[in-house]
Amino acid sequence: RKVDTPLLAAEGVSKSFSGLRAVNGVSFAVTPGEILGIIGPNGSGKTTLLNTLSGALAPSSGTIRLGDTVLNGLRPYQIARLGLARTFQLVRVMPDLTVAENVAAARLFRGAPASMRGSAESAGDLLDLVGLGAMHEAPAGDLTYIDQKRLELARALALEPRLVLLDEWLAGLNPSELETGIALIATLRDRGLTIIMVEHVMDAIRALCGHCIVMNAGSVIARGAPDEVLADPKVIAAYLGG
Ligand code: ADP
Repeated sequence: RKVDTPLLAAEGVSKSFSGLRAVNGVSFAVTPGEILGIIGPNGSGKTTLLNTLSGALAPSSGTIRLGDTVLNGLRPYQIARLGLARTFQLVRVMPDLTVAENVAAARLFRGAPASMRGSAESAGDLLDLVGLGAMHEAPAGDLTYIDQKRLELARALALEPRLVLLDEWLAGLNPSELETGIALIATLRDRGLTIIMVEHVMDAIRALCGHCIVMNAGSVIARGAPDEVLADPKVIAAYLGG
């Protein structure tokens, strides 16, 4: 395999809701080990696009491939077992279970194919990695907001994914938490994880993403290195509602 063979490729992906083209012919590729940023103003189609990648929504047209496997038509759990995991914009941990139980439950879901991929990292190692090493026995519902986000990330990592979709994972963090969160995502990348992040925090996009795509009204209006696209007049106009 060539080094730059995409891990995930979207070709001409569209999704309409009763006539509204929420996502309109979007194409992009993510190479292994990179972080792709997806940015754009509210309502531009970012969440809908993520939902087509994870199988929560079926694309109206276009093709999505993970490696050589076409994902179109697969159920979300099948896509997760192929190695594509996601976090949600609203934290979805199970509040009555402990932190460790939350990770164990995610692991159960993993199924055989993914577990063949390599040695499983223990739940404890994963919790250490995300910064919850001291919290194993705490009820998840007692965690602070950032710790619930850490747990959600650990749950996604428990699937031993090849690719993780982060849906505004940094939203709602204060400046010092943001710094911690950015460092954690950088650590995951440095460990070889491939990441697609939808994010409004432009400092994070600049710090983390090799390249990004900018969406507006369902279409990609710019793509490239963060500093280039954020200086693009088309992008500035889109954010100003132009
Ligand atoms: P973003 O994540 O960039 O804020 P979304 O993907 O949430 O954008 O929304 C894109 C467009 O699709 C918006 O106009 C939104 O109102 C519309 N939309 C999203 N989900 C649905 C749905 N389930 N049914 C109808 N319209 C939707």
